[in-house]
Amino acid sequence: MFGAAAIAGLAYIQYQAAQAGNYAIDLFGRAKDTASSTANTLFEGAGDIYGRTKNGWEKTRDSVELPQLPSWLQNLLSKDGSSSSNGSGGPSGQGPTPSENRSGVVGAGAATAAAFRLDAESEEDTRSEETAARDDQMMMLTRKMIEIRSLLQTVGQSDSLTLPSIVVVGSQSSGKSSVLEAIVGHEFLPKGSNMVTRRPIELTLVNTPNAHAEYGEFPALGLGKITDFVQIQKTLTDLNLAVPEADCVSDDPIQLRIYSPNVPDLSLIDLPGYIQVTGYDQPTELKEKIAALCDKYIQAPNVILAISAADVDLANSTALRASRLVDSRGERTIGVVTKMDLVEPERGAAMLNDRKYPLRLGYVGVVCRVPHQTSSLFSRGSANIASAITKNENAYFAAHPSTFGPASSLQVGTINLRKKLMLVLEQTMSASLATTAEAIHQELAEASYEFKVQYNDRPLSADSYLAESLDAFKHSFKVFTESFGRTEVREIVKHELDQQVLNLLAQRYWNKPFDDLTPPLPETDALIDLPKADPENVLWHLKLDASTASLTKLGIGRLATTVVANQLQAQIDRLISTSTFSTHPFARTAITQAATAILRNLSYDTSDELEICIKPYKYRIELEDNEWARGRENINAVLKAELRDCESAVKSVEEAVGGKKRLRDVMGFIDRVRSGDVVLEGDGVGGAGGFSSSLLGIGRQAVFLRDRADILRMRLLAVKSKQCANKKNKYYCPEIFLDAVADKLTSTADLFLDAELLSKFYYNVRATPSPPSPFLHPTSLPPLANNKNPHQFPRSLDTHFRSLTPGEIEQFAREDPKVRRHLDVVRRKELLEHVLKEMEALRQLEAREKRSASRGTQTKTLGDGDGSRKRRWGLF
Ligand code: GDP
Ligand code: MG
Repeated sequence: MFGAAAIAGLAYIQYQAAQAGNYAIDLFGRAKDTASSTANTLFEGAGDIYGRTKNGWEKTRDSVELPQLPSWLQNLLSKDGSSSSNGSGGPSGQGPTPSENRSGVVGAGAATAAAFRLDAESEEDTRSEETAARDDQMMMLTRKMIEIRSLLQTVGQSDSLTLPSIVVVGSQSSGKSSVLEAIVGHEFLPKGSNMVTRRPIELTLVNTPNAHAEYGEFPALGLGKITDFVQIQKTLTDLNLAVPEADCVSDDPIQLRIYSPNVPDLSLIDLPGYIQVTGYDQPTELKEKIAALCDKYIQAPNVILAISAADVDLANSTALRASRLVDSRGERTIGVVTKMDLVEPERGAAMLNDRKYPLRLGYVGVVCRVPHQTSSLFSRGSANIASAITKNENAYFAAHPSTFGPASSLQVGTINLRKKLMLVLEQTMSASLATTAEAIHQELAEASYEFKVQYNDRPLSADSYLAESLDAFKHSFKVFTESFGRTEVREIVKHELDQQVLNLLAQRYWNKPFDDLTPPLPETDALIDLPKADPENVLWHLKLDASTASLTKLGIGRLATTVVANQLQAQIDRLISTSTFSTHPFARTAITQAATAILRNLSYDTSDELEICIKPYKYRIELEDNEWARGRENINAVLKAELRDCESAVKSVEEAVGGKKRLRDVMGFIDRVRSGDVVLEGDGVGGAGGFSSSLLGIGRQAVFLRDRADILRMRLLAVKSKQCANKKNKYYCPEIFLDAVADKLTSTADLFLDAELLSKFYYNVRATPSPPSPFLHPTSLPPLANNKNPHQFPRSLDTHFRSLTPGEIEQFAREDPKVRRHLDVVRRKELLEHVLKEMEALRQLEAREKRSASRGTQTKTLGDGDGSRKRRWGLF
């Protein structure tokens, strides 16, 4: 009873399927044979394919009125039905799912019908539904394997990491290109008499049953979809001609994928044709080179498609001779005899029946020439030429029914060839799956080991590497900002102004270098007399006032801003060189430039505004007692440092002359000349007093330095003296006064630079309030709502690196050889794992396929004796 219900239910679904022309349901229909008596076996059979055909199922479920079905069948058809509970792979399972276009509304075997070119124009699809569905399944398996093959190509490296393909060999002009074009249905291969195929062309055909467009793609070139086959032909020609004349052939394959509803899933490799004699303009080794290239490709487990023209004796076929060498038992060679139309039918038939070179996969005779009228009627390149070729071919074979008719058992025709190629490729690929999987496991084990040992299993991608690098850099920048603030700015600016003060003192108060040995003019007011000078002495007043004016009008705004900005830039450079970016020239430059640009921008405004801030000091300077005291203390240290520098300079001069004594002698001589004790004869240019002129020059420097040191010592005493303890005596103590002024200027500058330069550079929102200086120009107040600071350095880094394209990020990460190796290992491992997963899915698919196929034949043989049941099935 239950069995009957099952059959009735199935019958109904079958009916629906016929109505919808639903391929998916037909698959289910095939499973009917397994539904012998219990629902359980039905589940098994149907469960297998449930996953693959769920789209079709759902479609049927929608179109079927569920209440009319028995409840168990409703369960089966409903999404959450028990079908997945039997564990044989439901829609939620890991099992392979159908590619979208397979489960749509194509009729049974429609995919292969088009691929086999079983369309209305050529011949009726005479296949039984079962055969058609089986063909479709076979093509699905092949497609999956070809996908895996392509994946493996991206893994590269080892030769064992591939799945077999069909390799086309034959001598020049034997018709190789014509056969391939007949299979594809388009003229797309390079044409010409002179060696147009110089590189292997790895042709992958991808069946797209529901698509209308046919197009090609060169995955390695990134040109996108090319729908114009003339363009494909041009590209192939260019790629081939790019091989230098001197090299003749290259074993670097061109990869081409062609997508079309009219092609079967196939993987074919076109090779340069064998040549018999080398042309006068071809190097002598060309013949061997081509032979070597072909040899490489015709190795097991590849299938050899040996092309021979009918008008050449098979014994002379280069293709067969080459294949014989690597496949002596003729197990993986398909013989193709082209140009059957050029010889007498009997001779052609004899070739196909060849007994001298028996091939397990047999010989197929074809006529692949594009009939002339086609090329004139349709514009070449765009129209599919398959039907024209098939018609022409069929016409020829049909004209000799006794030779080539069904009774002859000869295999002829492009359609048969296509089908044979599909079957053979599927079988060959299946057969080598295990070996390939083994090789992949091996590679994966190696990659995993390397990943573990070298990289401690640390995952990495270009994106994550960039993000980590940027985070780390921003972190180190943040740490730096915390250590570089107003105090540090003050130190830098003060140090710079100290140097300026020393320069002014040297210019206006200290001794001057001298160039000749003439006695110096007597000084009107020697510095040594300063402590005892008249308090109203105009000269000393003028000297200090002029020095102060020089200091305040130095351009402090620009000077202070520049030294601080330079320091920031130097710090950024230091941060970069201690970061991961140090190994990335492009990023390095980008970051440096970002910092430079921001600092330059900020510096313009900052230096102008700071100049305005210090403007009042140019006119009037009031010093507090404590300021004076601080200046006195500081300049003491500065003068001491200067004295030390002076003394060490004298030391190095001593060394340069070669000893204290020698220097003392020359200095003594110079002193005597300058004081007038010794009168020089002549100008002393060529030396004097027994000293060479260069020695005299060095002596002059030493005298200058010694006098400078004496002055410094004297002034250090003055600074420490009681006289200089009081700010009222500033004219007697210019050093202290100038230092105190420099300190005042520094206090304004550091506050301002901290607020304007550092904060804008560091932070998003102003961290420090504007300097509370009463002199601050109103226009220099930044807008308070300015929380999107365009000058902020970390933000500009974000903006820069976020605008990078994935390709640029990849390029960036790969700049570092260590990172590149790491990335390669990670990628390789991921790819291999992915391939293995795909292979596992394929293995399951195949196992189910085999199971259901064997069940199918089993029940069929059983059913043969059961006429009544057969009839019942026949109802549908
Ligand atoms: P390849 O050098 O091996 O690629 O050979 P081609 O495919 O370029 O073919 C060489 C020449 O043979 C071309 O002029 C084709 O038109 C012609 N040809 C190819 N197949 C056939 C055929 O089946 N019959 C005839 N008559 N000519 C053919
Ligand atoms: Mg060719």
